[in-house]
Amino acid sequence: LGGSISRALQQMSNATIIDEKVLNECLNEITRALLQADVQFKLVRDMSTNIKKIVNLEDLAAGHNKRRIIQQAVYNELCKILDPGKPAYTLKKGKPSVVMFVGLQGAGKTTTCTKYAYHHQKRGWKPALVCADTFRAGAFDQLKQNATKAKIPFYGSYTESDPVKIAVDGVETFKKENCDLIIVDTSGRHKQEAALFEEMRQVSEATKPDLVIFVMDSSIGQAAFDQAQAFRQSVAVGAVIVTKMDGHAKGGGALSAVAATKSPVIFIGTGEHMDEFEVFDVKPFVSRLLGMGDLSGLVNKIQDVVPMDQQPELLQKLSEGHFTLRIMYEQFQNMLKMGPLGQVFSMLPGFSAEMMPQGREKESQAKFKRYMTMMDSMTDEELDSTNPKILTESRIMRIARGSGRLVHEVMEMLEEYKRLAKIFSKMKGLKIPKKGDMSSL
Ligand code: GDP
Ligand code: MG
Repeated sequence: LGGSISRALQQMSNATIIDEKVLNECLNEITRALLQADVQFKLVRDMSTNIKKIVNLEDLAAGHNKRRIIQQAVYNELCKILDPGKPAYTLKKGKPSVVMFVGLQGAGKTTTCTKYAYHHQKRGWKPALVCADTFRAGAFDQLKQNATKAKIPFYGSYTESDPVKIAVDGVETFKKENCDLIIVDTSGRHKQEAALFEEMRQVSEATKPDLVIFVMDSSIGQAAFDQAQAFRQSVAVGAVIVTKMDGHAKGGGALSAVAATKSPVIFIGTGEHMDEFEVFDVKPFVSRLLGMGDLSGLVNKIQDVVPMDQQPELLQKLSEGHFTLRIMYEQFQNMLKMGPLGQVFSMLPGFSAEMMPQGREKESQAKFKRYMTMMDSMTDEELDSTNPKILTESRIMRIARGSGRLVHEVMEMLEEYKRLAKIFSKMKGLKIPKKGDMSSL
């Protein structure tokens, strides 16, 4: 996708005479690419019409960077589609709230319920899980296992077959226990059917959720709109979570889900594990959709913002799969020195939202400095290793002491490193284009 968009934009910038024909060709190419990324046909068509209105042909002709103008216009339009104009209902810590999860079987509801609970638990909430899925054999065991692992209280039954009764009993139980985030997991069934939607309506009516979250598998393709709309028609969906973003899907269906439910995406799932869960951030998501967040884009970005003399070495190391603590250190240094390297990281799904929240750059900078202080207490061997196992418990304690920080802060920094290393490991084997080839992005 990224390739074809860049190609389309490249054609654009190569054309000497910018006329409507070229603009149309370019938009057609982008349209095809977005459809491949599962963005709904109607959304793509409307966007294309809008772009034609927005992009001023005279501006293009006047020698401004055509590629950037069109790219920016497409980007802005996609961001707009993902913003339904109102934020998701904000739950209040300390006040009992009920959150109901809906979605088809296999969408990732049960997994996501636990991730959502765990995310909030880490932030001081008292979550609890209720299994109102009596349809799927083993549903309660699955939730129980997840909940136990995360040390989150759970409720369910092996014998009761009425999901409404379980949901109501569970919610009552946890209200009495002063839980402030009571999460109701529901059944999904294999396909959309009247019985499922009737069940969702009844569970919702009985538990009066403060928020209903529609969980969507990013790989369902063009089916996203109808699916989201069907759920929206039986329960008051107020937010969307898109799962399996670690797979191949670009997640274009999310735009459909937002359009169908008029609700924002709040989180994305990026793996099977509890902590593979990220606060949704529109910009990197759209970048990825457009292929701007892909690795070749990243290489370009590095070439844009990393000082020239450091580039070959950095790219070489990354292509060998060597993301060491020292590289992280140097990149933090760059980021503090020149800011824009933040853009490199912001292109990676998951980095910017968690690590560089918008409007909190000061805090992020303080964090980088703190991390760097800890890394200052490491040995060269540790900084240059790609095996975090060499950092034994006693070394971690020593580093904490040496840098005047707490052990858990050192662990947090190492977690952050592992997360980044995982992202950058995808660059292994990447062909590094020569500077001259990079003009396209
Ligand atoms: P449910 O039927 O909607 O409750 O879906 P489950 O929670 O049981 O998930 C179905 C499958 O998808 C399970 O194998 C999960 O491990 C997997 N899964 C859920 N979320 C993600 C994700 O974000 N990434 C990946 N790779 N797998 C996921
Ligand atoms: Mg389930």
